[in-house]
Amino acid sequence: MVDNFDLIKPLFYFNEANNMFFFCQIVMRAKDHKDNRKKVKESAIKTYFITSREHLESLKEEIVMLCEYYGARAYINVSGKDFKKFQDELLCKLAEYNATNTVVKPFRVVNRIAGTLGSRNPRWVIDIDDVSMKPAILDWLDNHFHVEEASAACNRESIYLVSTIPTVQGEHLITYPFYTDLFKEEFPNVDVHKNSMGTLLYYPKSLNHRYVCSECGSPNIQVQAWVNANTNEYVDDIADNAGCWCEDCSNHTKLKEV
Ligand SMILES: [Zn+2]
Repeated sequence: MVDNFDLIKPLFYFNEANNMFFFCQIVMRAKDHKDNRKKVKESAIKTYFITSREHLESLKEEIVMLCEYYGARAYINVSGKDFKKFQDELLCKLAEYNATNTVVKPFRVVNRIAGTLGSRNPRWVIDIDDVSMKPAILDWLDNHFHVEEASAACNRESIYLVSTIPTVQGEHLITYPFYTDLFKEEFPNVDVHKNSMGTLLYYPKSLNHRYVCSECGSPNIQVQAWVNANTNEYVDDIADNAGCWCEDCSNHTKLKEV
């Protein structure tokens, strides 16, 4: 379970009066349901336009309940978007659909516009799956943003680092925009999301797994076991240094306890 409500609340830099919102989506991820017999399609269960920290607080019970029920994650994009711009874009899109005789489900249009709409104050997400890379990434960013070395720890927050948000595997660094080409050269395997679903708000207990693949974090893993040759009854695991077969890596990897 990951509950980031208390970390997200201070990130509101507006309230109801500003006509702005953080776009929040409850999403069922296919990768969370690979061990289900029923195939799960990647789908948004519900979306929210959240206008203040009080609004987020008032929605917490419902968001947590839906995530637990569906085995879904809640994401929130912490770049504030304007309702006025949203309204303008929506009108343009609807006019375009009308002109081309296209019929789309209304919520699809709303979610698409809200998701792709730009922010006046963008905040990016650096997705760190392997937390051992975090010091090198922070060093690179300190250098890039010219944070004085002696006071790096206290200055990062005011210069580029908006927040650090735990994820299922690692961490999201929420930052102000920077020059990504150079970053990509240095860290080709670290994703930087500019206007995506945002960061993790809630990951439900109902998806908790005791063991995952040490390489990719997938719970879709198998171990070898001793089985009664006549009854097929499971007897014990074969203790082989916590190795497993990962369906997602299609490889032998190690078990990781979470
Ligand atoms: Zn794996």
